[in-house]
Amino acid sequence: MPVDTVIKNGTLVTADSILETGIAIDGEKIVAVGDESTLPNSSQTIDASGYLVLPGIVDPHVHFDGTNPFIDDPLETYDTGSAAAALGGVTTIIDFAWQGAEKGADDPETGTLLDGIEYQKSTAGESLIDYGLHGTIIREDPDLFEELSEVIDEGVTSFKMFSVYDWGVSNGFMGRVFDHLSNLDAVAVLHTEDESVCEEQTKILKEQDRGDPTDYPDSRPDYAEAMAADDALRMAMEANCKYYGIHTSCQKAGEVIKRYRGEYGSELVRGETCTHYAALDDSVFSEIGTLAQLSPPIRSPSDVESMFEYLSEGTLDVVSTDHVAYTRDRKSVENWWDCPYGANSLQRSLPVFYDEAVNRRNYSPSFVVKVMSTQPAQIFGFSNKGTLEPGTDADLVFFDPSKRHTITSEDNASKSDYSIYDGRTIQGSVTHTMVRGEFVVRDEHVVGSPGHGKYVAREVPDWQN
Ligand SMILES: [Zn+2]
Repeated sequence: MPVDTVIKNGTLVTADSILETGIAIDGEKIVAVGDESTLPNSSQTIDASGYLVLPGIVDPHVHFDGTNPFIDDPLETYDTGSAAAALGGVTTIIDFAWQGAEKGADDPETGTLLDGIEYQKSTAGESLIDYGLHGTIIREDPDLFEELSEVIDEGVTSFKMFSVYDWGVSNGFMGRVFDHLSNLDAVAVLHTEDESVCEEQTKILKEQDRGDPTDYPDSRPDYAEAMAADDALRMAMEANCKYYGIHTSCQKAGEVIKRYRGEYGSELVRGETCTHYAALDDSVFSEIGTLAQLSPPIRSPSDVESMFEYLSEGTLDVVSTDHVAYTRDRKSVENWWDCPYGANSLQRSLPVFYDEAVNRRNYSPSFVVKVMSTQPAQIFGFSNKGTLEPGTDADLVFFDPSKRHTITSEDNASKSDYSIYDGRTIQGSVTHTMVRGEFVVRDEHVVGSPGHGKYVAREVPDWQN
């Protein structure tokens, strides 16, 4: 019996090797990798000459429609968001199931994480790509502890908390959550900025009438991010709880993660930065103003370089997008403090990060695969994603490393009508994207059928290796 597809003449890139070899796919799975003469016969053969063939990108930090209290309107839906992702080579995301019943519910004080999971899944019917969910804890409600093991049985094995915002939790409650997660071997995902510092600095800027976007970073200083990371890590380590620090933006916060990781090891401490912290510095605020306003803020040029150092030395493991869609109109405000936080970037994340890492800094394409596919899959318990190993899902990206192009938001699939990378000329582009054996993007166009994407229940991850 011939298999469905053989891809030949491509350059396969994994987290630790680059091989000129073929790959065979049957149904939804990769069934063989090796010299073309050794691969089975196939119904179709695809010539991948000139392409790097990568495992699909796994982005563990994405916000689509949901009961998310910091997005006023359900701007990004799964049909548009997953199209943006697929065009950018992203085949799996992790979105957030917020503790709560449904968006705009009359009584948001009573909804559970299980309600949030059910709601979030109900919005995802049109997805082109696969998705998982983090649970997001936004209330100090001890009833939460009763439902955690059931939530984990649903395949939601990581839980986000904030140290800031109205929906942030106190250190005291955070510590209790760490204890419970530790008992269940689950992962705590932390947004860390010290709330009182950010509030006080914001107050000062308002008093001084400093509403220009170039003043925004002063409201959320790098040391505030480091302080809250230190508190949260201290408590997580006391509880022996797996800790994942999201969207690390600066050298000071990275140093805190590095210190705890040095002491407690990668079996307990992991970390992430985002594409924008590796590709943009704070000059962006004078260039595009509040369009680039997200939190924590985009930092200094030396913070940008420190992100590459942390990723290459193994202080940080992952590059994500923290994708949030807003329109230009919604982001256009008189004073930065009236601007909602977030920017869309799923469609540009791989090509922009590849260009920064490989073309501008001489990293190997394997480095990109490691931090954008293999490690996020391992850290969050996607055992069938993030590699080209036979037996795993045939999620593939055909990446043309020589194609130069200038980013423009005219072809944005997101409901957002701008990109923070607009006008940037880069080399390297996604041509085709395959999710479980089926092309969802071909020749830079969406061809997949909405609903091809599935919810993936995640395992409790093993961080021992
Ligand atoms: Zn986020």
